[in-house]
Amino acid sequence: MQKNPSQSDKTSCDSCGRSDCSAAEHRKDESAEEFAERRKLQSRLCRIRHKVVVLSGKGGVGKSTVAVNLASALSAAGKRVGLLDVDIHGPSIPTMLGLEGIRVGACEEGLLPIDLHGLKVMSLGFLLPNPDDAVIWRGPMKMGVIKQFLKDVVWGDLDYLIIDSPPGTGDEPLSVCQLIGSLDGAVVVTTPQKVAAVDVRKSINFCRQLKVPVLGVVENMSGFVCPKCGEVTQILRSGGGRRMADDMHVPFLGAIPIDPGIAESGDIGLAYVRYCAASPTAELMHAIVEPIMALDKPFDALRASMSPPG
Ligand code: ADP
Repeated sequence: MQKNPSQSDKTSCDSCGRSDCSAAEHRKDESAEEFAERRKLQSRLCRIRHKVVVLSGKGGVGKSTVAVNLASALSAAGKRVGLLDVDIHGPSIPTMLGLEGIRVGACEEGLLPIDLHGLKVMSLGFLLPNPDDAVIWRGPMKMGVIKQFLKDVVWGDLDYLIIDSPPGTGDEPLSVCQLIGSLDGAVVVTTPQKVAAVDVRKSINFCRQLKVPVLGVVENMSGFVCPKCGEVTQILRSGGGRRMADDMHVPFLGAIPIDPGIAESGDIGLAYVRYCAASPTAELMHAIVEPIMALDKPFDALRASMSPPG
């Protein structure tokens, strides 16, 4: 007998089996198809322990750079990491990781992310027939694609999913926050000058409205360190990110200088933390990653207690 969608239909979730899982209950206002989709999305997300979105108030401030290096540093530290590029209008992750022109495969379970030394990567850039194509989609279509990336990609069991969101507070970041629902939080990237910091306040307020915790602010392009003499030149008026973080009572994660090596690493397709692993700038990046790494500390302890004594 077919169930009436208006009746509450509580079943155990496919992956976690918890009867209190939000996907266990058939909501009154959803069709059978919507319920099945939501369950599928939830069962994928259930297998990802920490979900972190990288946001910025405007484009070109280094948001994708931070996302790539955050994901790569976590992966290099032995974490199981996925990197999802939902920058639908300018997917730059494939270029930054040397994956341009690569096509994703599929299996019965869904789309297979690209495996880059253990880091699982998915981007719209892998699905576009021509990387120069302009994507002209309206809000609902963007929401649909983002949902597919979360629901139909075979992420498997992950410690972290890092999501590179497009700049601003529009449809895409909204879709990410609403679809995932249980984000650990947002890393907000800005540049030091006042105009960028004003936009970033909007990103922080956006997070607050959606009840997404702000893990912290990163000030990118904070001074230029001369590679010859080491002198620091403040090309952009510095300190805006830190001041804004203090004003808005959110953590300041750290500052990254303008470093020609960062631009170079992005162009040649290697994460900077791998390309210049021993540089002072890479050290600064690792310090920024530290609080994100700390999210998994309780599970490190659990894993250690469960591993057989050596
Ligand atoms: P967004 O994602 O905010 O649009 P990107 O991360 O794509 O910004 O960065 C834009 C460009 O600036 C890229 O070419 C990147 O390599 C470069 N870039 C980012 N941060 C730095 C930095 N600290 N020093 C030098 N170049 C940088």
